[in-house]
Amino acid sequence: MPDYLVKATAAKGQIRAFAVSTKTIVETARTVHHTSPVVTQALGRLLTAGALMGSMIKNRDELLTLKINGDGPIKGLLVTADSQGNVKGYSYVSDLKDTTSIPMTVSDAIGSGSLTIIKDMGLKEPYVGYSPLVSGEIAEDLTYYYAKSEQIPTSVSLGVLLNEDGSVKQAGGFIIQLMPFTDEEMILKLENVLADTSSMTKLMDAGKTPEAILKEIFVNLDLNITTTEIVRFFCNCSRDRVTKALIAIGEAELEDMIADGESTEINCDFCSEKYVFSTEDLQLLLNAIRKKEKETEV
Ligand SMILES: [Zn+2]
Repeated sequence: MPDYLVKATAAKGQIRAFAVSTKTIVETARTVHHTSPVVTQALGRLLTAGALMGSMIKNRDELLTLKINGDGPIKGLLVTADSQGNVKGYSYVSDLKDTTSIPMTVSDAIGSGSLTIIKDMGLKEPYVGYSPLVSGEIAEDLTYYYAKSEQIPTSVSLGVLLNEDGSVKQAGGFIIQLMPFTDEEMILKLENVLADTSSMTKLMDAGKTPEAILKEIFVNLDLNITTTEIVRFFCNCSRDRVTKALIAIGEAELEDMIADGESTEINCDFCSEKYVFSTEDLQLLLNAIRKKEKETEV
């Protein structure tokens, strides 16, 4: 079954909730980036957060970026998501060797640092929200971010469960937000329910779908599932885009690359796709730039 996300409201619209399954997304990321177990967990959690937050985007052209920088051995993670269920991402270090006797946690791997959320709406200045990491476990860091930067009481749960061989057994998460007009009684009720709810990975390992998880959380709270949509790991890189990037680096740089006499290989950070440009390819590109310059001079 492909990964999918459900959107819901509860308690007569006082609460909005999002739940997602991301096993295929995280397994795809693991395969393309050859991530070691703790990195698969860290990147998987951030990709899951990306899928959830992408679905909250109102503007169709908006692009969301989630960036974590830390002083731990992973160094950082970057994920982008759009409003159509496409998510992609990578870790700065993928093949982290865990030599500790107690397996390294995501928090150990990330260390202290910061979380940056960039919402690029295609306008001149993107919105940039920033908060320090409070635990490095990602879900708690996002909860803190929502409270501090957006002033929205939010509960975030993200989980990635691995098989013995390091492949992904289960992955998913939920985000629950209280609307500004939520009454005190409802806030307390929800807090109690969330305190009793098992971890995301436990629920998913017990075979619970995103809908079933929300039903369990919002039992007797008037849950209304409004939308179900497919989410996927998708990178929109192409030879065309890479060519444009090469044109942007300028003539002098291209001349140097041609003078090297070797073909140039460019790897996409997000999906590891390789793009190879021979010196002939680069020469053609340079010729095209010069031709265009001449035309504009006339
Ligand atoms: Zn790519």
